[in-house]
Amino acid sequence: MEVSIARSAQLLDQAKSIMLTTHISPDGDALGSLLALYAYLSAQKKQVRMLLDDEIPRTYKFLSGWEKIEKPASPESHADLLVVLDASDLSRIGKVSTVVKAPILNLDHHISNVKFADYWYIDSQAAATGEIILKLFNEVNADITADMATALFTAIATDCGFFRFANTSADTLKFAAELVALGAKPHIISEHLDIKPRAVIEALPKVLETLEIIDGGPAGQIATLTLKQDIVSELKEDTEGFINYPRNIDGVEIAIMFKEVDNNNVRVSLRSRTADVSQLALSFGGGGHARAAGCTVTGQLDQVKARVIEAAKRQLSHSRGATYA
Ligand code: 5GP
Ligand code: MN
Ligand code: MN
Repeated sequence: MEVSIARSAQLLDQAKSIMLTTHISPDGDALGSLLALYAYLSAQKKQVRMLLDDEIPRTYKFLSGWEKIEKPASPESHADLLVVLDASDLSRIGKVSTVVKAPILNLDHHISNVKFADYWYIDSQAAATGEIILKLFNEVNADITADMATALFTAIATDCGFFRFANTSADTLKFAAELVALGAKPHIISEHLDIKPRAVIEALPKVLETLEIIDGGPAGQIATLTLKQDIVSELKEDTEGFINYPRNIDGVEIAIMFKEVDNNNVRVSLRSRTADVSQLALSFGGGGHARAAGCTVTGQLDQVKARVIEAAKRQLSHSRGATYA
């Protein structure tokens, strides 16, 4: 059932025990939203826990409270409410969906959301789930500490490329201003996000060597990067930013990064200037936003590459091409 922000707040208020979770391969929005909501509910003296079926990337360990995030473990846990943040389908929360028995409230901003929850608030105009959490805080007049503001600023800033992507709205900037006034420090947050181990920078020549540019007709080119298993396991979450290199090449409409997870699974990240890559990701069982989406495809690297590139070409053949609007 679709619910409003006010009704979402009421559902949280009525629940005594609450489990919070977010998507696997967590990003800044996932973790920032999770930790801010956790801080609020703890202050409300709720019985609240955070479960996540994945590791916490090193990059986000400056956010306060991350060490309280638990891995889901059987046996089953019961709660009055399971809140699923920034996830558009149930497979995105991994084992949490089988371990926790509770009605689900889904707060999300993905256009590809499949409305899997018992209660959902989905705002695809929001640049980040962090915006939705801030709206919820304002609805209930929450006391927002500097740590909570930092978590929410991180959530919003990371999902809109630090206010550069097309999802950055006037509201996004107003929310960001509000969070800075509450104590979030953009220069400190961006420093935490930008600093990388030396090995990541040293791996760049090897990564950029894999760049391929494919003709996609009048609509623009397709540029790909391909990361083999050795580099994926060495750099882990630090491969996230590499997609910006193909994305930023003049004339490229769709950028794709292939990460070989193991012999039979490839993680695919998709970025575009104007084309709707969420459709492309959905057709491979993934999802996301119009200009940033992803999926995990079963198969060998070369075969997955061929299939995804073919689908991207097909999509471009129906598209008008980049307008830079
Ligand atoms: P990234 O390429 O950074 O991993 O993901 C880009 C966007 O697509 C993110 O908003 C992310 O939530 C979404 N996304 C990535 N992979 C998947 C997936 O396998 N399933 C779904 N539903 N969404 C995904
Ligand atoms: Mn996310
Ligand atoms: Mn998000």
